[in-house]
Amino acid sequence: MNDVIIIGSGCAGLTAAIYAGRANLKPIVIDGFEPGGQLSLTTMVENFPGFPEGILGPDLIENMRKQAQRFGAEFRAGAITEVDLSKRPFKISTGRETYETRALIVGSGATAKLIGLESEKKLIGYGVSTCATCDGYFFRGKEIAVVGGGDSAMEEANFLSKFASKVNLIHRRSEFRASKIMVDRARANEKVNFVTPYAVEDITDVTKGGVETMVLRNTETKEVKTLPVEGIFIAIGHEPNTRVFRGKLDMDENGYLITHHGSQTNVPGVFAAGDVQDHHYRQAITAAGSGCMAALDAEKFLEAHKDV
Ligand code: NAP
Repeated sequence: MNDVIIIGSGCAGLTAAIYAGRANLKPIVIDGFEPGGQLSLTTMVENFPGFPEGILGPDLIENMRKQAQRFGAEFRAGAITEVDLSKRPFKISTGRETYETRALIVGSGATAKLIGLESEKKLIGYGVSTCATCDGYFFRGKEIAVVGGGDSAMEEANFLSKFASKVNLIHRRSEFRASKIMVDRARANEKVNFVTPYAVEDITDVTKGGVETMVLRNTETKEVKTLPVEGIFIAIGHEPNTRVFRGKLDMDENGYLITHHGSQTNVPGVFAAGDVQDHHYRQAITAAGSGCMAALDAEKFLEAHKDV
């Protein structure tokens, strides 16, 4: 029987583990499919307070992990395949192992959707990014592209125009899913160049370890052209990692967990932190902050529910 199990080892889960560890709750952290979460897919992080020169995402995660281990957190590989939250103690299964826990913190994050190109995957962190707030600053004075046609793409194109010399907004259709006001704002921005209807077929140059061009195909005429850019921001949506909680925890229409009074879910004793319950801020520091909240809430809950 465990006091606290934490699902997910990104910023939220690891911060929860540090706090729960220091509260002597001996947390077990289940790594998940993507150990380290989205920070492990990025390179330099310049906006996490306390690192004036910046820190590499994987190093930041490794430091948090060591810090959690120092206070007694234990890590288990694997992803959750089944949960029984109908009564306490909760049962959590990874397929190979089943755990029982008196409180649960869900920090399983959200995964940024990718187009699905091999070159895109290889160049993530090397010119391809899924976070404008995190990486925009690196593209000062450079020509870049944003891929997507939703509100995120419009917002990111405008935001990135503060740094870049030119932002090409690439979308596979000529109509936009984004709200009219967001499209109008992007159209009014003279640094934003709409490139539609184009799908991204390839990104070069993987052999040089950086972004040089995008290969684009007109989805109507099938014409293929090459666009030289130095950075590409993929803004085609996120998917919260909540499939296993469907029907068990309250979610919004996009599958994000709903929290109230801090980190509480609709099931007493189950708390949620980080991007799995936040589609708005999505920052390492906000995820860390909510991980802290979840651990404090879990600690208080366990104090008040000593029966199980
Ligand atoms: P979204 O609304 O789901 O839009 C995703 C966009 O990416 C769509 O235009 C879609 O194209 C395109 N896309 C999806 N898969 C693709 C693929 N494989 N290849 C190329 N393009 C692809 O996602 P979002 O923009 O992240 O917004 C998510 C939610 O947050 C929305 O409810 C949005 O309103 C909200 N949001 C609001 C604000 C704001 O109000 N300030 C800012 C950001 C987000 P198709 O249209 O062709 O399917």
